[in-house]
Amino acid sequence: MDLSKQEPRVARPSYGRDLLRSVPAAYRAQAIVLTQPEPWELVAPVFSGHAPQLHMVETMEHARVREVTQGFERARAVWGVGGGSALDHAKYVAWQTGLPLVLVPSILSVDAGFTKAIGVREGSRVRYVGEVYPEHFLVDFGVLEAAPPLLNRAGVGDILSIFTALWDWREAHARLGERYDAAIAAEAEGLLGRLLSGADAIGRVSDAGLELLAELYVGEVLLCERFGNARPEEGSEHYVAYCIEHLTERHYLHGALVGLGVLLAGAYQGQDLRPVKDFLRAVQLDCSPRAVGLSTDEVLRALMAMGDYVRQESQLLPGVFHFRGGVTESDARDVMAEAGII
Ligand SMILES: [Zn+2]
Repeated sequence: MDLSKQEPRVARPSYGRDLLRSVPAAYRAQAIVLTQPEPWELVAPVFSGHAPQLHMVETMEHARVREVTQGFERARAVWGVGGGSALDHAKYVAWQTGLPLVLVPSILSVDAGFTKAIGVREGSRVRYVGEVYPEHFLVDFGVLEAAPPLLNRAGVGDILSIFTALWDWREAHARLGERYDAAIAAEAEGLLGRLLSGADAIGRVSDAGLELLAELYVGEVLLCERFGNARPEEGSEHYVAYCIEHLTERHYLHGALVGLGVLLAGAYQGQDLRPVKDFLRAVQLDCSPRAVGLSTDEVLRALMAMGDYVRQESQLLPGVFHFRGGVTESDARDVMAEAGII
């Protein structure tokens, strides 16, 4: 009997320090390593004397990822050491080659380590391909602590998104009769509650804070697997983020951009934003346009474009920008004032 068909799988992290040496020696001796300069510098001693096949990941553009993947020679294991792109690229290589996968996130600001699918870029769009699970998923506090604290704090964005995603989901259920699972929604609410009450530990980037963040990701990915899509954690806050990326053609720190999206979408939904604002302050994640890398005018234009954006991107599940139609300039200014960014 195939148990994986009954209970969804999710990558289960091991926590601690100096975890890389706990991986079978053969995996280090004949390794393909997808990484980035700073994290590689940290972990290189673990591979010393073995000359791994090393690739510094600069892009997840699909054509390039395929080309890099085909260029590797025989190995015993694939390692992804770094941020989202390094992990995703390693997942791609493991998916294509069938080699055992070892993931070592250097920051907790993205969920790439936790999800089975692989995000690749095709032009300005992200597509999800493949399915792969790590044999070893090492949440090594020593590696994470070496990153700028902001990059780990920004990890809260993709959990905080539950705040606005649940509103969209409930509203889509009430208005359109969309499938709704009260138990899953309640569990998602529980994850959000744990996040909000963990602000101090996460803000300090303590071991407990990092472990909490990783466990919240595990919980969230499981809920989405059980439900069958990202409805419990992704909604209009992400649509705002995608629209901003589309309009400005720039990249941003995902969690901070999503945090800004939670403030804006939450305000447009008419939710009480105090818990979110208090949390962001306590966790020390500045999601103001300026901190994220945007002018207030760009935010204003993005909000006013939301109606058209969600109409064009027809794959997006309905949310507040679908229900309430286009955002007028005066609505946009009200939303920004409510969100506390003007
Ligand atoms: Zn996200």
